[in-house]
Amino acid sequence: MKKISVVIPAYNEEEIIETTCLRVIQVLDENKYESREIIIVNDGSRDRTHPILKELSESHPDLKVLSFSRNFGHEAATTAGLKYASGDYIFIIDADLQDPPELFPDMIKLMEKSEADLVYGVRKSRKGESGLKKLTSKMFYRAFNLLSDYKFPLDTGDFRLLNRKVLDEFNALKEKKKYVRGLFSWIGFKQIPITYERAPREGGVSKYNYKNLMRLAMDVIFSFSKKPLKIASGVGLFCIFFSLIFLIYILISKAVYAVPGWASITTLIVFFGGVQMFTIGVLGEYLGIIFDEIKGRPEYIVAETLNAEDTIKNNEKSRS
Ligand code: UDP
Ligand code: MG
Repeated sequence: MKKISVVIPAYNEEEIIETTCLRVIQVLDENKYESREIIIVNDGSRDRTHPILKELSESHPDLKVLSFSRNFGHEAATTAGLKYASGDYIFIIDADLQDPPELFPDMIKLMEKSEADLVYGVRKSRKGESGLKKLTSKMFYRAFNLLSDYKFPLDTGDFRLLNRKVLDEFNALKEKKKYVRGLFSWIGFKQIPITYERAPREGGVSKYNYKNLMRLAMDVIFSFSKKPLKIASGVGLFCIFFSLIFLIYILISKAVYAVPGWASITTLIVFFGGVQMFTIGVLGEYLGIIFDEIKGRPEYIVAETLNAEDTIKNNEKSRS
């Protein structure tokens, strides 16, 4: 019998976490998935998420909880859950019930029928999210595909089902800063979509604001693509070419009009200043990534576990 793992990152989800756990358990019960584990990664929540999980885990031995020492972010939380997952079929799902756990059996059937290695959820609609969020998210995925060396499926979140083969490849990746959905796409194998309606949050508020999203978008683009470097050098080349033409123009026009051209000179200084700053900024982004990786700090620190002590020991062993 195949074992099911469900990985759920959660940050300040006191309003909803209990409902989420119970709904996932209900789906697993109804479909008689007896060999299973639900891994909640509590990403340093400062509300009542932890006590709620503690109480729940006492009556549900298959509910495992990893609690971080502080908030390390959504991607780190998902990565931690995936590292500890021991199932043959592994689901990733958000804690806010925007993605329906009722889809689990269909996803498994689809995976088995089409012999796929990964089934990813594609949002047919996104209810309860502002027009601006939908628009910026659309723009991000389009811009990303334009800049990235790999093409990623549009309108896809983290909601997906993986088999062991894909997960082992993911866990073997050495980079520290992981953008989960991008890396799964990069890993390859046979991946197929399943479309679903994305519901509004059942409770609580989104943990992402525009500043976080902007930072995430930049991190993702710079860690998946070298195109910004190429664009920067392209702009540099264009400027050299442009300034040569301009030089010729100045020489001719000086001979003809002999006017003091402070306006054009100022414009040029500002323009090239901008180009240089832009280029240095691009280099800085990559330097930042290298800096983070070279320090070799762990992606997250697990401070406490519930029902998961043996899982962690096994993982520590395999790591050392
Ligand atoms: N999350 C997390 N750490 C964070 C931010 C979010 O573990 O620092 C979790 C959050 O609890 C949720 C999932 O990541 O389960 C997605 O977050 P959210 O629903 O706020 O994002 P949105 O759906 O609005 O993009
Ligand atoms: Mg959400």
